[in-house]
Amino acid sequence: MPTLFEKIVAGEIPANIVHQDDRVTAFRDISPQAPVHVLIIPNKPIPTVNDVSEDDERTLGHMFVVARDIAKQEGIAENGFRLIVNCNQHGGQVVYHLHMHLVGGRALGPMLAGEKHG
Ligand code: 5GP
Repeated sequence: MPTLFEKIVAGEIPANIVHQDDRVTAFRDISPQAPVHVLIIPNKPIPTVNDVSEDDERTLGHMFVVARDIAKQEGIAENGFRLIVNCNQHGGQVVYHLHMHLVGGRALGPMLAGEKHG
């Protein structure tokens, strides 16, 4: 079964796409947590960070280059932003097609909610 995000890559489900090339697709999150909230995904359906391989290094590195360019386009590069990749249940991953959240446009506050450890 193709993931939701594979269908977005294939154009079978509508999404507000801000960038697409032969390796990655970036589109606005349907439920934004900040003024800018873009998801950057490999076109290849890698389920989680646990599933990445050395063969994916070029694509994964490219995701950062695309994040840099989108942050600049969105006018949030100078003030700053956050990149988040959730993995599995404890990481809060909901969609099992690896994705990088690019969030910004406001001060985001502490990195993690909840109690401190150590
Ligand atoms: P995760 O929790 O897996 O790291 O994040 C999944 C993200 O995908 C969530 O922020 C959620 O709002 C977003 N999302 C889920 N379904 C859709 C969809 O159909 N379209 C778009 N654009 N984003 C989605």
